Amino acid sequence: MVHPPSENPMDRPTVRLPQHGGCLCGVTRYRLDAAPLLVYACHCHDCRIRSGSAFSLSILVRTADLTVSGSPKATRRTTPKGREVEDNSCPACGTYMLGHAVATPDYASLRAGTLDDASWAIPIAQTWVSSALPWAVIPGVAKFEPGSFDFAKMIDAWRATGPTFEKA
Ligand SMILES: [Zn+2]
Ligand SMILES: [Zn+2]
Repeated sequence: MVHPPSENPMDRPTVRLPQHGGCLCGVTRYRLDAAPLLVYACHCHDCRIRSGSAFSLSILVRTADLTVSGSPKATRRTTPKGREVEDNSCPACGTYMLGHAVATPDYASLRAGTLDDASWAIPIAQTWVSSALPWAVIPGVAKFEPGSFDFAKMIDAWRATGPTFEKA
């Protein structure tokens, strides 16, 4: 059962910063030092292929808040919407951990499953729902098609209802 973020602040989980994550083999690690902007799921076919699963779970962060150790391998590709993005994966084991749109290098998207503790990464929105596997549409999570995905509105909603982040 997936629960949407609660509107009761008392129910909001508290997440200690920094948060850490990395690849399967341990060669590439990252540290997130500030609250992320948003967590969302994407049901596009590309995300299914790259994740090997039903959808991707992305954490939008400011690149400045992220420190990556190791030398991730960068691969460029074009998204279904026509944006050029750069994906970064571990050069040793190939785990895909983060990416960013070439036009907006100040923001990066972390793959939620690569966090050491991904329990707080609850999506507040889901996009490309029209191409979702029928069983994989997440109950209670706002649905958007790519043209109507309102990042600013979702970022505000995440800040208002998502976890609270505190520095250790
Ligand atoms: Zn690795
Ligand atoms: Zn996608």
